[in-house]
Amino acid sequence: MSDRRRVIKGVPVSAGIVVGRTHLILPGDISVAEVVVPASEVSREITALKKAVDDTVTDLRRLRASAGKNASGPVTKIFDALLLIADDQDFVSKVVDEIATRRRNAGFVYNAMVQQVTDPLKTSKDQYMRQMAGEVDAVAKRVLSHLSGFGQQSKLKFPANTVLVGKSFAPGETLGYRNRKAAGLVVGEGGRNSHMALIARSVMMPVVVVEENWAQIPHDCPIIIDGAAGSVIVHPTEGDVTEYQSLSRKVGAGLATRIKSLTTLPPRTADGVEISVMANLELPGPSDDILAGQRIPVGLYRTEFLYLENDQFPDEELQYEQYAQISEKFEDTTVVLRTFDLGADKVRSGDFMPHEDNPALGWRGIRMMLEMDEVFRTQIRAMLRASVRKNIRILLPMISDVAEVDKARRVISQVMTELHQAKIPYDREIKIGVMIEVPAAALMADQLAPKVDFFSIGTNDLTQYTLSVDRNSTRVVDLYNPLHPAVLSLMKIAVEAAESHHIPVSICGEVAGDPTALPLFVGMGVREFSMGPAKIFDICRLVNRIDSRDARTLSDTIMAGLSGTSVKRKLESFAAALEKQ
Ligand code: PEP
Ligand code: MG
Repeated sequence: MSDRRRVIKGVPVSAGIVVGRTHLILPGDISVAEVVVPASEVSREITALKKAVDDTVTDLRRLRASAGKNASGPVTKIFDALLLIADDQDFVSKVVDEIATRRRNAGFVYNAMVQQVTDPLKTSKDQYMRQMAGEVDAVAKRVLSHLSGFGQQSKLKFPANTVLVGKSFAPGETLGYRNRKAAGLVVGEGGRNSHMALIARSVMMPVVVVEENWAQIPHDCPIIIDGAAGSVIVHPTEGDVTEYQSLSRKVGAGLATRIKSLTTLPPRTADGVEISVMANLELPGPSDDILAGQRIPVGLYRTEFLYLENDQFPDEELQYEQYAQISEKFEDTTVVLRTFDLGADKVRSGDFMPHEDNPALGWRGIRMMLEMDEVFRTQIRAMLRASVRKNIRILLPMISDVAEVDKARRVISQVMTELHQAKIPYDREIKIGVMIEVPAAALMADQLAPKVDFFSIGTNDLTQYTLSVDRNSTRVVDLYNPLHPAVLSLMKIAVEAAESHHIPVSICGEVAGDPTALPLFVGMGVREFSMGPAKIFDICRLVNRIDSRDARTLSDTIMAGLSGTSVKRKLESFAAALEKQ
């Protein structure tokens, strides 16, 4: 065994240890198991297929309708194309014949026949053909996900401790695989700040990114992954297995006990300044009760994961239930619900998005919601109905222009009037804030501040847009620096605007949980930080050791110097001095 042992050093993306076996997911592989069905169940498989196709057509029609009157031409066109593909009755009859002849489960036959069509398109030189293959795959995924509620081909669970190995995983796929009990991922592509990474951390699924090495890892072989260290051992020795199994037991117990041990919340700096340490949540998760019990506010709830989990927009009731549940759970504190921030890497091209060469600079966040009128109104209605405990705030993502705030507020007021007329209660004073995550928003912070109740600085996107560095790219990961002076300068503009307009400002990007950066932001005047639950304990403990006056001096010196390397040096020596205290 040991001569095949191979250690791969990758990028640590989501912490945790798995000692298990690999399962390869090839690009475009929808991975439907083949099941032989008895003759008596063939008609059941055929009925299930027809229903799944009908449900897909209904979904797509609903999505097209929900895009509303304002939907732009390309959006309607993409739905029309998807509907033509989904409703191709000639193809459906061929699949039906094949199920009857071969006596295999509907999902397997449908998937195999789709791939026969798309495989040649995927390698075509013609970009249109390749795009077409993506659209057919997107429809097929929808049909298969409807089918998975039926018959033999139900969502098969992976065996315990399965590590999926593949080139890339979209956030929705990551969630889907987690629901099927995959234990961890080894991935070719995706940075620490990608949405795949955020979702993996939120569901506590270990992930290591190994670039092209993923292709060298065999299917169904023993593997160990350590998501905190970024290491992968293929064909580990017995010694490796024993060592990592015991390490994994120690790591497992950590988060709950540590957060519960925090006695003084919110934490205060050494000179008594109160700092709000909040949690970023994506979906109901294992740490919610502990956080709520400790009255830790939810500084960012990424509602788009409700879409990603189901691959469709949840209806008003489903959203209302989720928002009301989280409001109730965190009733002693506050919850910031962000409206759907879809687009870029959070939706597959072809799902309902028109193709864009640069989706991160395209139809995303508030831009999409202002055009998908019905989707936006439905979400606002659900949020307002859930706001009766008066602890919900609404946050608008990807704002790049004051007019977008005006338009969004107009929709919110109209929905409020409707609720009022229908005598449905809601919080009339609900606070509405905006993400500062596009450089334009930071530069216009003085104009935005009078129109909103709070700012939340999204450093993940602010960094990518300010530095022109794709947050998902492993190739330019060294250039992705949220502490770059240009990013810091924009943050400072936003913080000063918030101060002068007397509205709160928080940081909710990943850097909020970076202990080295914390003194700088405290010195800049930020008093609220929202981060992944795993970071909360360390940050609370660190707050107690910082003197806000020293932090102010540090921040002033750094902002006066403004060189990338000197920022890092100064922060490291400040951190070293804190360590010694
Ligand atoms: C951000 O951009 O910093 C942010 C918090 O939003 P998201 O990571 O969901 O884009
Ligand atoms: Mg963002």
